[in-house]
Amino acid sequence: MISNFTDIGIPEDVAKAMDSMGWSEPTPIQVHSVPLGLTGADMFAQAQTGTGKTGAYGSIILGTIPAEGTVPHAIVLVPTRELANQVAEEMTKLSKFSGHVCLPIYGGASIEAQIKKLKAGCDIVAGTPGRVRDMINRGALNLTQIRTMVLDEADRMLDMGFVDDIEYILKAMPEDRHTMLFSATMQENVKQLAFDYMRNPREVSVSKDEVVLDLTKQYYISVGRRNKSWALCRILDIDMPKAIIFCQTKKMVDVLEERLTGLNYKVEAIHGDMPQSKREKVIRDFKEDATDVLIATDVAARGLDIDDINYVINYDMPDDIDTYIHRIGRTGRAGREGTAVSFVTSEEEHLVREFEMRTGMEIEKRTVPEAEDGRKDTIRRVVDYDQISDVFGMCRFEINLGKKDGFGKVALADFIIRNARVRDVSIGKMEIGPTSSIVEVHKDFGNRMTMDLTKAKFKGRRISVRVIQD
Ligand code: AMP
Repeated sequence: MISNFTDIGIPEDVAKAMDSMGWSEPTPIQVHSVPLGLTGADMFAQAQTGTGKTGAYGSIILGTIPAEGTVPHAIVLVPTRELANQVAEEMTKLSKFSGHVCLPIYGGASIEAQIKKLKAGCDIVAGTPGRVRDMINRGALNLTQIRTMVLDEADRMLDMGFVDDIEYILKAMPEDRHTMLFSATMQENVKQLAFDYMRNPREVSVSKDEVVLDLTKQYYISVGRRNKSWALCRILDIDMPKAIIFCQTKKMVDVLEERLTGLNYKVEAIHGDMPQSKREKVIRDFKEDATDVLIATDVAARGLDIDDINYVINYDMPDDIDTYIHRIGRTGRAGREGTAVSFVTSEEEHLVREFEMRTGMEIEKRTVPEAEDGRKDTIRRVVDYDQISDVFGMCRFEINLGKKDGFGKVALADFIIRNARVRDVSIGKMEIGPTSSIVEVHKDFGNRMTMDLTKAKFKGRRISVRVIQD
């Protein structure tokens, strides 16, 4: 229904493009910001990825600047090269009937090739601040005709240290321009930027319950560090998702990719240390379903817009809410349902409560999917002493020795110290039963309890040790 879009002022040729992209009605951020933006008012909008913000400012740009294909009349600054590409792609689709030309400009790729394209002419540029500044310095990018400027994911650009570049670019374009700022959060430095460079900006925000994240079911699984890969393989084997897996560090991304590849999973990884060409190939493979599992760091996955991701897995739980929201915003897009699963160690469980409070959405506890009968796990579950220990780091073990064998507390402690090489201060409470006993031992000696102590014998009988997990 094109009229759903033209009703809020979107020009007919852009509405037609939206129709051909399969969009049926504007999202809340589009409803709130497009009519205002089309009047030429400066605005700052609080909107996360997944809300349709690109479509919002895209419609405003296409509705207000001419399609001449000469020098740029609009510029969108974004934090990452992936986002620059995605914005340019979406703008190009939206321009199907209006004929506007949008070019991405970003670092890590040949500057000459980008200069050549700029020379051939365009209407809109979507670029990262560093490369845009570089282009201005080289005299390759003429911003004197800019009428509209968009700062997309402004909070992230500031967090990434782009403030000087942004200010430099702002000064290189006419003061008499239309400026729009989009940000997931309205932290102080973002407001300052809006205040310094915008004229009477109007604020637009989309309330939480209108965020597209609603289509995403959020879960967490309580799992210790040592069993994360076991849990992950269960999910990959049983749920067979089209998934993006987030790790906290580049190193962890590499380690996990190697481990999964070694187990014959078809996975690919992306992080900031990879050459641009490799990153583009990985994203293309994932988009075209050549791979179903992508392992990524936050920066690399920023703005990644792939509609059919049905699973986001936080292999490592992020410790801040914005990162969490951005990550899970990769799924549940464009009207599809998604699942977000976070692996949470016992020390991280407080984050679940905190994120629930901040988002007003439930993060439900679930267990690792059950393996089908007779199916062997790809990775064996191990005992994770960190996860089962109490706040003092103590774990409980049941040993098949008791009063009937002549053991009291002192004798049993002595037996454990000698045979499992456990330090005396690492033994805690003991309950001596008739034929078996329960002993608390520090987690650092967990392996020795199960590996070494079980090699010992008492009066010719093998010692058995069971880890008590509850
Ligand atoms: P964004 O918030 O710009 O990252 O957009 C999130 C996703 O929603 C992208 O895949 C857009 O193509 C899609 N999208 C944006 N607007 C609409 C709409 N009105 N209807 C359906 N999908 C949309």
